[in-house]
Amino acid sequence: MSTLAAGLPAARQAADGTTGEPSTAAATGARALAAFIRTHAPLFVLTGAGCSTDSGIPDYRDEAGHWKRAEPIRYQRFVREPAARRRYWARSFVGWPRVAAARPNITHRTLAALEARGLVTQIVTQNVDGLHQRSGARRVLDLHGRLDVVDCLDCGLRLPRERMQALLAQHNPDCVPVAPEVSAPDGDVLLGDAVQAGFRVPDCPRCGGMLKPAVVFFGENVPRPRVAHAMDQLARAGGVLVVGSSLTVFSGYRFCRQAAQAGQPIAILNLGHTRADDLAGLKLNAACGPTLTAALALLEQAPPRPSV
Ligand SMILES: [Zn+2]
Repeated sequence: MSTLAAGLPAARQAADGTTGEPSTAAATGARALAAFIRTHAPLFVLTGAGCSTDSGIPDYRDEAGHWKRAEPIRYQRFVREPAARRRYWARSFVGWPRVAAARPNITHRTLAALEARGLVTQIVTQNVDGLHQRSGARRVLDLHGRLDVVDCLDCGLRLPRERMQALLAQHNPDCVPVAPEVSAPDGDVLLGDAVQAGFRVPDCPRCGGMLKPAVVFFGENVPRPRVAHAMDQLARAGGVLVVGSSLTVFSGYRFCRQAAQAGQPIAILNLGHTRADDLAGLKLNAACGPTLTAALALLEQAPPRPSV
């Protein structure tokens, strides 16, 4: 396995023990990535929180894979404990406007450009922010669902998140949804106990049932048809490219494991350690945006033949 540091500030490169000029290291990483894409496209692209940090949506974990703050709510607590549900929606209510205002960044746009050139079979994202689609990518599978949709767990009614936001506002006229800063990819923010305790959670407007964001919570399984579709797309790909994920959660890691078993090559572009580092033929410990854009520029100079 080769490990390269590209697109990083000089201080970080030094901390990583790499040598040489930053620009040289960045160029080396981009060249290696361009060569991987040229050789193994079309690729199955697996993305995570590191793709969206430049859009103002923070990562759950630090570069060592540790939680940056308290673990997100688990499914079992959400459905069983009214107080936990109240806390979730109070924090989500305040955090949502910032998530809704987030825009795709250069990483999303470059992946969309690779897709448009026929170099990507499927983008499977562990993010719930919808930013790949907003960047123009079309072959996107939201592995963990979408934060901009809310489901009734009892009757199956589906609401846009904006409608839920309006219901939350109606039930909590004294709570103003202005967040200083979102602290997690699910739009969570930290609120005082008093605000959370007094928060009122609306029920399903059709059946009075329990409303939940259409995202896969921790402790919940990804729906089987979704996994099966992703596995089908993986089987059609010439290789796997992981972008901005530590792959700590099994739901994403399993695709790398499957690829390794099938003998498909894996490249990982991520700041910090990932669970699949040992499975990857190419590991770039680098910022996603600069490395991807430099690789795309190299591909434009000598384009590979699209095969999808
Ligand atoms: Zn309902």
